[in-house]
Amino acid sequence: MVKHPSPPFVRDVNKIRQTEMTNMTRVRPVVRRVILGSVIALGAIVGCERSVMSSRSEPTTRPVDPEIGRVEKSDADWKAQLPEESYNVLRHEATERPFHNAYWDNHEKGAYVCAGCGLELFSSENKFESGTGWPSFWQPVKANHVYVTKDADGSRDEVECPRCGGHLGHVFDDGPKPTGLRYCINSASLKFVKTK
Ligand SMILES: [Zn+2]
Repeated sequence: MVKHPSPPFVRDVNKIRQTEMTNMTRVRPVVRRVILGSVIALGAIVGCERSVMSSRSEPTTRPVDPEIGRVEKSDADWKAQLPEESYNVLRHEATERPFHNAYWDNHEKGAYVCAGCGLELFSSENKFESGTGWPSFWQPVKANHVYVTKDADGSRDEVECPRCGGHLGHVFDDGPKPTGLRYCINSASLKFVKTK
């Protein structure tokens, strides 16, 4: 697995930016600011990318939700249990490649459960086409079936599994109605269970 991919979309943005830089002498300052602003906004929408790998080996101090329960294992046990990509995403906050993952284009009806502990997280009923190349949902299956916290650098809202503490992805406020939220989730953190 590529742990720190540069998605094609982002590469294209960089290419655009380089082209702009070379054309700058021919562009009036106001126009230049508008173009650069658009490029920066575009970069922000891409969203799921993460540049720093970190470990979540620290035990959580959050109280246990009795309906959800808690699964705690050592890093070595998670590594032995999970496929490599799921381990890197869930336990070390890696981000998988957009458009090259299991569920971004999955349109089957069913449930998305945590690849680490099996807790039901999202439903196909709430999945939508975000265009980002990652599976995207406008709400979790139940409000307490995800835990949202700040990233280590405080810049984004990280989505975790409330039972095993696994990293799932991030949530942004540019999603569709009725919630206006976009849960941008790594396929490797999920397992799809098709409705029979
Ligand atoms: Zn879990």
